[in-house]
Amino acid sequence: MLRLHDTARRAVVEFVPREPGRVSMYVCGPTPYDVPHLGHGRKEIVFDTIRRYLVWRGFEVTYVSNVTDIEDKIIARAVAEGSSEPEIARRYEAEFRRQFDRLNVLAPTHEPHATEWIGEMISLIGALVSAGHAYAVEDQGVYFAVGSLPAYGGLSHRTVAELLESAGARVDVDERKRSPVDFALWKAAKPGEPTWDSPWGPGRPGWHIECSAMSLQLLGDGFDIHGGGDDLVFPHHENEIAQALGAGHDFARHWLHNGMVNVDGEKMSKSLGNFTTLEAVLDRFGPRPFRLLVLQTHYRRQMELGDKELGDAGKAAERVDTLVRRAARAGVAAAAPTPAGIERFRAAMDDDFDTPAALAVIFEAVRDANAALDAGEEDAAAAGLGLVEECWTALGLWTETGADGSDGSDAEIAELVARRDAARAAKDWAEADRLRDDLSDRGIAIEDTPTGTAWRRVRADDE
Ligand SMILES: [Zn+2]
Repeated sequence: MLRLHDTARRAVVEFVPREPGRVSMYVCGPTPYDVPHLGHGRKEIVFDTIRRYLVWRGFEVTYVSNVTDIEDKIIARAVAEGSSEPEIARRYEAEFRRQFDRLNVLAPTHEPHATEWIGEMISLIGALVSAGHAYAVEDQGVYFAVGSLPAYGGLSHRTVAELLESAGARVDVDERKRSPVDFALWKAAKPGEPTWDSPWGPGRPGWHIECSAMSLQLLGDGFDIHGGGDDLVFPHHENEIAQALGAGHDFARHWLHNGMVNVDGEKMSKSLGNFTTLEAVLDRFGPRPFRLLVLQTHYRRQMELGDKELGDAGKAAERVDTLVRRAARAGVAAAAPTPAGIERFRAAMDDDFDTPAALAVIFEAVRDANAALDAGEEDAAAAGLGLVEECWTALGLWTETGADGSDGSDAEIAELVARRDAARAAKDWAEADRLRDDLSDRGIAIEDTPTGTAWRRVRADDE
């Protein structure tokens, strides 16, 4: 039985899909106005792993993740750069995808862009106005009347009275709203901003409405799983629920939220100066140590990240490569894993996607397979290797050597060379030397030239 922690019920509950054998998932995607940071990377890996595990377990999964391509921050960035909103959104969306590809994050089944769904959002807002849950304010836009929906606050476990009390302390109280906790569904046009026509005048949608409109359209009422970072529980996800319920739709059956990333023991923030882009970390340590490190922490916990943790994760991942190369040299190919081994992996993952426990099963199998190779027990080594490979790839991890003991694809070699360059640039000579040795073990010769690092495979007849 698959169990997961549901934020709304504040408990680990049995996963009961809407339709047997199928899972519909919606995960809030990026607002591309800047390059991705480590928190984005963690969230993508967490939900990609959950998706992959559900597929491994036999479900047919439809995975939807949106791109918020119109939003205040995109407009501000376009103004600051003298560019346009579509240009900014396109550029940074491509950058997000580039980094997520490096992390082996699968592309969503559907990736709706907010600006292509304005009509559906207007329909949903219209339904909310008709149902008495929203009201238009002339020249301002349309607001959701939070007090009109008794269920409001059910996800984040807050009452409207508590929200009103905390709203009183805020400075951005807008006199035109009936209540300070009401939120914008449609924002009237301001000079110089992109606008669309609507029954309430030209303007653009608020941020929250797009996710309700696109998830219901693409996945239908009562879809299975809604996910996101735990910083989105309030107000974003609370408001998504309100918009759906207010218009008479059943919304997500289960809510999953992942924890945040701490860098060197502190919450990551631009003001603390420990703000790190995803690209910088992947260039320096490689994408695989980052993916593994994310999975070594349970998705709901805060994740601790620093040079030491990333370095250790890299070494742990290499233990799998070493086993694969060693087995290939010994002429041992992966065989079907034992049912008991698979059952232990499944039990760990079925317990609210406990990836640290699942990785413990894998690394125990690495030890056992090495011991079997030491003892010349080929069948046990082959089954152990089969378990390691099946579970490792089920989590979206990969080996950096071919199963035949080959030296790695050109892309893997280029990645190692890029990491060595980054280590040298960071004056991390120990890491640079380690990577040079790794490349040398793979039969790769590197040459530092004024225009960068060149590499070539050294064949036996060159030597
Ligand atoms: Zn959303």
